[in-house]
Amino acid sequence: MNPIYLDNAATTALHPEVLETMVEVMKSSFGNPSSTHSFGRSSKVLVENARKNIAKILGAQASEILFTSCGTESNNWVLTSALRDLGVKRVITTKIEHHAVLHTLEVLKTHYDFEIVFLKLDSDGKISLEELEMLLDSEIKTLVSLMHVNNEIGTVLPLQVVANLCVKYKALFHSDTVQSIGKIEFDLSQLNVDFIVGSAHKFHGPKGIGFLYVKKNSGLQPLIFGGEQEKGFRAGTEAVHQIVGMSKALTLASESLEKDQLHISKIKEYAMKQLEDNFNGVVFHGGTDNFYNILNISLPLSKDKTSMLLFVLDMKGIAASRGSACQSGSSRPSHVLEEILDDEMLQLPNLRLSFSSENTTSDIDFLIDVLKNI
Ligand code: PLP
Repeated sequence: MNPIYLDNAATTALHPEVLETMVEVMKSSFGNPSSTHSFGRSSKVLVENARKNIAKILGAQASEILFTSCGTESNNWVLTSALRDLGVKRVITTKIEHHAVLHTLEVLKTHYDFEIVFLKLDSDGKISLEELEMLLDSEIKTLVSLMHVNNEIGTVLPLQVVANLCVKYKALFHSDTVQSIGKIEFDLSQLNVDFIVGSAHKFHGPKGIGFLYVKKNSGLQPLIFGGEQEKGFRAGTEAVHQIVGMSKALTLASESLEKDQLHISKIKEYAMKQLEDNFNGVVFHGGTDNFYNILNISLPLSKDKTSMLLFVLDMKGIAASRGSACQSGSSRPSHVLEEILDDEMLQLPNLRLSFSSENTTSDIDFLIDVLKNI
């Protein structure tokens, strides 16, 4: 039985070429990038080349890319420093952000004096731009924190439109782009966003490495103190092999972007068609224009099937999820679905399928066969 992996929004398989590159770095460049001798200098060159490469792919300047341990750290950093150092008194966000944003805001609320405004959402998880604009038309120093692609239902934020509104009303704009980096093209030189976030394990890179894009002269201050790494902005010896691995993964992702998008979109379309043909009344969440690798469904099965659904799939070698991986162990319904679905719909068995370039239509055929027998 070949395992079938349909949980690519949780994490992705390491690309073999990324692994090779990382192993080579670990073998040949163990120097500390802060050391001034040749061992250190050669590691430093690897780190700086990776920074330049990532910046180039994203249309940013190298000095605007700062390495972190993950997407969660990057989100924590922006939110904390915005409230601590940048004079932000109000954060506009939604209740369907990742917990790396929501739980961080909850904690920050106990330390800083600021208001959190949650935008209203429609049943696809979309915000109202009119409501956002109305709120922004204010003197209060504001940070808008809205994710680009929702990790559970794939709803896509119109990044450019929101960025332009933030410029118009002089608000800071942070977007959690963990689900879209490496999956669509970015040109940050044309996008007026102040902070975006990347996490390598979402685009076939290693775990434990991410980055934060910080627009020049933003005033952001460090979250982690210590040495002078990252020009004093993020202390801690750089994870050289991880950084190089992330850079390689982003290069590979950007080189095959069009081909992968096409392939994954076709897999998703095929899955939707098979689900519709076999499950009369299946419901797709996140809107008809949601992100191309995420498919979130409610199945017209009795509600007592909910708890066994993932278990049965797992027994058959199929990995899928019911929402964010960070919450998979929880029996509570997803905070995202709770926000957008009515009680009746929430009772139905729900699945998040998320695809990568490695999936095939026969993966979907097998999934449908298993689902039909539940
Ligand atoms: N933000 C979003 C939208 C995510 O999907 C995730 C991971 O699931 C994170 C943040 C956290 O990223 P990391 O796993 O790198 O901490």
